[in-house]
Amino acid sequence: MSTMPNWLLKRAGLTPRRKALVFGRKSWSFEEMLHIVLETADNLAFLPIFKGSRAAVLMSNRPETVFIIHALQQIGAEVVFLNSRLTPSEWAFQLNDCKADILLFEKSFEKSVQQLSVTTKTVCINRLPKETGQLKIREEFNLDEVCSIMYTSGTTGKPKGVLQTYGNHWWSAAGSVLNLGLREDDMWLCTVPLYHISGFSILLRSVIYGIPVMLMDKFDEKKVNDALSSGKVTIMSAVSSMLNRMLSELGDETYHPNFRCLLLGGGPAPRPLLESCKKKNIPVYQTYGMTETVSQIVTLSPEDSLVKIGSAGKPLFPFQLKIMNEGREAAPLEPGEIVVRGPNVTPGYLNRETANKTSFQDGWFSTGDIGYLDEDGYVFVLDRRSDLIISGGENIYPAEIEEVLLAHPSVIEAGVTGVADEKWGQVPYAFIVSRDDISEERLVDFCRERLAPYKVPKKFIHVGELPKNGANKLVRRELVQFLK
Ligand code: ATP
Ligand code: MG
Repeated sequence: MSTMPNWLLKRAGLTPRRKALVFGRKSWSFEEMLHIVLETADNLAFLPIFKGSRAAVLMSNRPETVFIIHALQQIGAEVVFLNSRLTPSEWAFQLNDCKADILLFEKSFEKSVQQLSVTTKTVCINRLPKETGQLKIREEFNLDEVCSIMYTSGTTGKPKGVLQTYGNHWWSAAGSVLNLGLREDDMWLCTVPLYHISGFSILLRSVIYGIPVMLMDKFDEKKVNDALSSGKVTIMSAVSSMLNRMLSELGDETYHPNFRCLLLGGGPAPRPLLESCKKKNIPVYQTYGMTETVSQIVTLSPEDSLVKIGSAGKPLFPFQLKIMNEGREAAPLEPGEIVVRGPNVTPGYLNRETANKTSFQDGWFSTGDIGYLDEDGYVFVLDRRSDLIISGGENIYPAEIEEVLLAHPSVIEAGVTGVADEKWGQVPYAFIVSRDDISEERLVDFCRERLAPYKVPKKFIHVGELPKNGANKLVRRELVQFLK
């Protein structure tokens, strides 16, 4: 059992006056933050929340959320992150699944919380007890202990509760900084939700590295562009839809040279987007990771971004990755399941016996994603195994077809899935949201120029909106609803 000094105590002792958090015009040093966090922890202890309690939080990207999360760590409670974009019945599923002892929510969620049919105690954070004197400060963190429980996005099925230990978070932060390096003037912009690992990992890195987080309550391309042009922000985490909006708003301008890293993850990065960034000298680091690997596990540096276009990079130090095909390690360029190992990988899912058995073997975690390694060891992520289309014995990756369709100027969004077919077993169908009523013939021609004939969708169906989950990801298994 390895232990470390309590991170926030250690940080506030080392660099008390350094900035920890910036929100709008307000900012807090590590010393100030520790003071608020300990007081909050003392209040929470009166609810009561103990060491080992499971406390769910339903809160937005605000300083209070940061303080509450750190306060729960000071008590030694496990934090269950609820995605604020889900419905009350989806929250109820997660609260029951993890048997949360308490739900802490922000006032703005009061109405939704009233609709929850759960036995979990619910407390609005605006009405915390004001008593103090109960808290026993934890001098140490145990690296094997669960720090957080975070549900997967539910893209391929019901969300799964992922156990994330202090050790997982520590190694995730270490792997990232060994790749990106650390500068004294670093400031990490967080506009991604704190309830996703992309957001929460920034909070912990801030404490471990001793750098400030600039927190924004929501993504606003104008505000983000202003921050990146100011020279204050050096690193930012984003997904491609955010980056698209940032580039349109940016026009002919570019960012301040201090801005050194845009960590782009969460899903595949479209090539035209990477090319536009290259033209503007925007330092994009593509990454691949998931809730189970507690943030990035593979990252591509900007110098390789166009040489290895489409690649997610190489596994970070000290993480390992291999591609498995039918029980053996695949040769370079041969697709197979991406399997990973490292101290950042979750010890397992909560209450998911089958998933735990099938996903973890001999210390390796099967990601459920298909990909390949090229001759130089760069990882290319193709798609999710569950979305693979097998047509006449050929493998078709919906993501490849979607990328082609998205490059068409009339197409705003595209989703591709396999539909049963007598002759071929399955054939790809495309569902598109378009700017105009572009004809099927023109789309077929466009695809034929860019894809092998068996990959060209057999049908193009115009829809108003594609099915998305709470993480705003396309849920391909729901596309067939349009055929009914
Ligand atoms: P669920 O596991 O419930 O189906 P999810 O996998 O979408 O949901 P997350 O953990 O939020 O939940 O997302 C991780 C997944 O996102 C990865 O397993 C992968 O499929 C996809 N992903 C992440 N980064 C990339 C990338 N660079 N390229 C392609 N896909 C990516
Ligand atoms: Mg997943």
